[in-house]
Parts: sequence; structure tokens; C-alpha cells
Amino acid sequence: MTIAFFSAQTYEKPFFDLSTQNTNLKIKYIKAGLSVETAILAQDCEIACIFVNDHADAAALKALRELDIKLLALRCAGYNQVDLPKAKELGITVVRVPAYSPYAVAEHTIALMLTLNRHTHKAYNRVRESNFALDGLLGFDMHGKTVGLIGLGKIGIITAQILAGFGCKLLGYDMLESEEAKAVGVTFVPLDDLLAQADIVTLHCPLTPQTKHLINAQSIKLVKPGVMIINTSRGALIDGAAAIEGLKNKQIGYLGMDVYEEEGDLFFRDLSEQVIQDDVFMRLSTFPNVLITGHQAFFTSNALTNIAQTTIQNVQDWQACYPLTNQVL
Ligand code: NAD
Repeated sequence: MTIAFFSAQTYEKPFFDLSTQNTNLKIKYIKAGLSVETAILAQDCEIACIFVNDHADAAALKALRELDIKLLALRCAGYNQVDLPKAKELGITVVRVPAYSPYAVAEHTIALMLTLNRHTHKAYNRVRESNFALDGLLGFDMHGKTVGLIGLGKIGIITAQILAGFGCKLLGYDMLESEEAKAVGVTFVPLDDLLAQADIVTLHCPLTPQTKHLINAQSIKLVKPGVMIINTSRGALIDGAAAIEGLKNKQIGYLGMDVYEEEGDLFFRDLSEQVIQDDVFMRLSTFPNVLITGHQAFFTSNALTNIAQTTIQNVQDWQACYPLTNQVL
């Protein structure tokens, strides 16, 4: 069987080639992302495999089904890019990789916090130019600061564990108040209280209709002036235009983003020779207190190994008609 592997990146190939060794699976690596226009590239394949910014909307799914594709294997955890009711209607099974390395994402979250706080990105450039002045590099102790975690699932809890090690006070907001999070020292509070009390707000919930633009003009009014906001979850949790206003009026003192609402047109490619058309993104990237990375929080060798192994295991389970533990229902 052949897997149409959309949005293929060169760094993924060694991991997937290794995982398909000694199996009956072949991979057709396709650089283009999945959309209704590109679905045809999956011709002669039995399975489609996609990543976070592919568009498995109703039209793309219909096009895949017309090619007789019955399995959509997501090599990521989030599935907001898939029209699940349509997949069900068409008889396309959807599987995912629910966790590949929550440590990778939690540790990158901390990297964004510490870089914004201690300005190490600026210090690196200064020292290379023999500028050893400290003006503009002033930070704060993480110890004793209040961090509000929105979403305390796998990644949120590990982030909380690391922050507990710094001596931070931890507030949490989640529909499920897990005992595991409480054991780490998280106190669950209503969202408005978290926003009002936290020095740092970090987002670890999925993108759903309820969480879209969770950070918006209204919620930015509730935060402590000068708050640090970190988003390593999904871009659309933050209303970009509202964040720009919040940065301009200094309600937001620091913003760290690994994800961006319209990242599908930007991330995972080299656009350094092109004129970026997204004015919200470009404005955000001009603030001295904004740090953006291009959806790299997951990007560790451990995570890529787990992604490849779980994706191929999901496909093999489906081929063998075994129960699918990672099916998205
Ligand atoms: P998870 O499912 O283990 O945890 C998500 C938590 O969010 C759960 O506790 C859930 O109850 C909570 N939640 C759901 N809806 C909520 C709401 N409306 N308000 C508050 N909390 C809510 O997921 P995870 O593995 O911890 O991943 C979290 C997110 O991280 C994913 O959804 C994904 O978007 C993102 N992610 C990003 C990267 C990256 O590279 N940047 C990699 C992997 C995952």
C-alpha cells in the first residue's frame, strides 16, 4: 500500500523511511499541502497522511474519497484542520498521533518565556558586535511569579511541573480540574481570575469554537498590565489584531508565539526572498517584545521518532482491522 504524504519536509523523510522499513508500506512524498486542488496527487495511493496546515475540508475529502482513499492519517495531535463530520459521511477513517512529545512543546514554551524575560536573543547579537552594555536587557526572577495555564492536559501539566521547579505560583483554567495538575501545585480558578492575577499566561488548550480568540480585546482588558502571553498551542487562540492593540497600549508586555492564526500561508517554508503580504503578522514581528518561532515547539528528534512510529502503527492497525486506539471520532 502507498501513503500519499502531503506537506512533506526533508527532515521527516529519514524518520518515516526508517519506520516503514520491513513493512508493506511505501511513501509517496508530496511537497504540496493537501487541498481540493492537490488531492489528485494522491492518485494510486490508498492512504493520505497530512500535517497541521493541510486543508482536509469537505471538498478535499471528497476528492480523496473519489480516489478510493479510506484512511486519513494525521501526523499531529490537533485535528481542527479536518472536517470530521464530512470524513464520517464519506467513510474515511481519521487517525492521529495524540502525543508525540509533550516535553518538546512544554520545554519550548519555557524557552520562549525565558528568552522574552532575559532578552537572550538580543544579548547574543550584541555580544557578537562587542556591545556588552546591559541597558534594555533587564529581566525578572521567575521565582515567585504567578503563571496562569489555560488547558492542563499533557503539555499543560508538564509546563506546570517545570514552572513549579522555578518556584512559580500556578493558576489553572480547564473544564476538567485534574488531580494530577493539583498534585503539581496548580490551583484551578475561573478564567477571569486567572487573567487578572497572572504575570504570565500560557495557552495549552486545543482550538475549538469555544477557544477561538480566547485572547481578544475583552480578555486583554482583564490582564495585569504588562503581562507575558505565550502561545504554543494553536494560532487562532489569539486575535492577532487585538494583540497588536494590547502591545501598543502596553497591556501586553511580552508576547511569545510559536503558532499564528494564518500560519498556513507562512510557516514551514523559506520565504526570505518574498514580500510577506500578511500585515498583522508583519506588524507583530516588529515589536521588540514579541518573539515568534515558526511552529517548531514539537521539533525534537524524540518527537519526530514518535510521530513516525505512531503514524505507521496507526496505518498498520487499520490495514489489519485491529481496534484503532488513535482514531478521531
Ligand atoms: P490535551 O488534549 O492533553 O490537553 C488539552 C487540555 O485542554 C485538556 O485538559 C482539555 O480539557 C483542555 N481544554 C479543552 N477545551 C478547553 C477550554 N475551552 N478551556 C480550557 N481548557 C480546555 O492536549 P495537549 O497534548 O496538552 O496539547 C495541547 C495543544 O498543544 C494541542 O491542542 C495542540 O493544539 C498544541 N500543540 C502544539 C504543538 C506545537 O508544535 N506548537 C505540538 C503539539 C500540540
